[in-house]
Amino acid sequence: MGKKVRVRFAPSPTGDLHVGNIRTALFDWAYARHTGGTFIFRIEDTDTTRVTDEYIAAAIDTLRWLGLQWDEGPEVGGEFGPYLQSQRLEIYAHWAQKFLDQGDAYYCFCTAEELEARREAQKSANVAPGYDGKCRNLSTQEIADFRDQGRPAVIRMRMPEGETKFVDRIRGEIVFDHKYVPDFVLARADESPLYTLAVAVDDILMKVTHVLRGEDLLSSTPRQIRVYQAMGVKEEDFPTFAHLPFVMGQDNAKLSKRNGEVSIAWYRDKGFLPEAICNYLALLGWSPGDDVENITMQQLTELFTVERVNSSPARFDMKKLESINGDKIRALTLDDFLSRALPFLLESRVISGTDKEIALVKAALPIIQERITRLDEISGMLKFLFVKTFSIEESSLSKVTDSAAKSVLRRSLEDLTALTSWTHTNIEEVLRAALIEDLGLKPRIAFGVVRVSVTGSTISPPLFESMELLGKDSSLARISAALSL
Ligand code: GLU
Repeated sequence: MGKKVRVRFAPSPTGDLHVGNIRTALFDWAYARHTGGTFIFRIEDTDTTRVTDEYIAAAIDTLRWLGLQWDEGPEVGGEFGPYLQSQRLEIYAHWAQKFLDQGDAYYCFCTAEELEARREAQKSANVAPGYDGKCRNLSTQEIADFRDQGRPAVIRMRMPEGETKFVDRIRGEIVFDHKYVPDFVLARADESPLYTLAVAVDDILMKVTHVLRGEDLLSSTPRQIRVYQAMGVKEEDFPTFAHLPFVMGQDNAKLSKRNGEVSIAWYRDKGFLPEAICNYLALLGWSPGDDVENITMQQLTELFTVERVNSSPARFDMKKLESINGDKIRALTLDDFLSRALPFLLESRVISGTDKEIALVKAALPIIQERITRLDEISGMLKFLFVKTFSIEESSLSKVTDSAAKSVLRRSLEDLTALTSWTHTNIEEVLRAALIEDLGLKPRIAFGVVRVSVTGSTISPPLFESMELLGKDSSLARISAALSL
């Protein structure tokens, strides 16, 4: 029997979580759920100049919003906490000291300027860049002298000659020649730990069995393995690595702010549903097989295996995300749709939230459910039902002012006034008889005029349903106002 799976999502929130982070979180979560394992959420906030409390809070909120609930981590706790690295500093200090004592690490007194000058020299000599080992074998006397000079010292890990070999679950066997893995810094002069130290120590102490993360971190793996070794961990207790392929933008460059929207907060504000984001991101580098594209979170956890993760980069396609989002919106129950729509209508001040308004929203939502791909379209679509002072949008005015339009409006007003039972089927029947059969007009033209007069725009939900919802008095008042324009 294998060990119980423990996977972690370990972001360093230096901004809003982005598409790449969440794809990683989703795969970690799905793998944990698929295997009946534990999903750990760890905040890597040792770089206090770049990680802020706001970003940490936002990361927690985003993961919750997406439904990626963690079993151990912030606000939840767990046996191996704390789960914020900033609260674990003495643990890293302990290990750094131990590595110094064992001779695995050493103090390095090189200044930033000295390192820079030597890097330049390496470049011109065509030597692989990286730390040249200058402080590797300082004598006790040299160390004392540097200290007397008041030079600050970082702690550096000694990389032995040779290579690091490991099997990546997605990419197969990977070999790093240590010629290209120079001695690396574990802790700064102020003793604060660097990523490589903290991540490796925590993965061991938190008994992480699988590290699923972005390909950008592949090159840090030999350094982490070096830390495991210095900790005295046996190879069979190292986590298994699986590096997920990059997410690319449409231009085939790595997805970033420059070639696409990356922040999950942006997608949330635009009215993407969390289940659509998860569904779409699941397809970025993984596939359930059989060209299936619409999956639920439940199906994802049932089907997810690392074997089905592709090693080649995945391309982010906004159109596909929107189409999945539309599918998920159509699949919502009315009550669910209502509760997701209301924040958008309140935020855009289309409604203030009275019971009467909410009842009207609820009656109107079914007629737009088939027509939208994002929740942020709702306000524009339903605004005509709620505006206090109605007006026709500037760009559509010409549709109702020519003489042909006037006769459409005049006739509609006359015939609809006589209508007693104001239902969309009756409205349609009356207008068809008057405008299409009697006046011989094309439906698109004739109904377009009526649409602009009652909704204020050429784009609206279905006309007859819209008129029914708006009510007879308001509909007729608007037609008559348009007539006198
Ligand atoms: N904290 C690292 C980052 O956000 C990731 C750590 C890891 O997954 O190994 O880039």
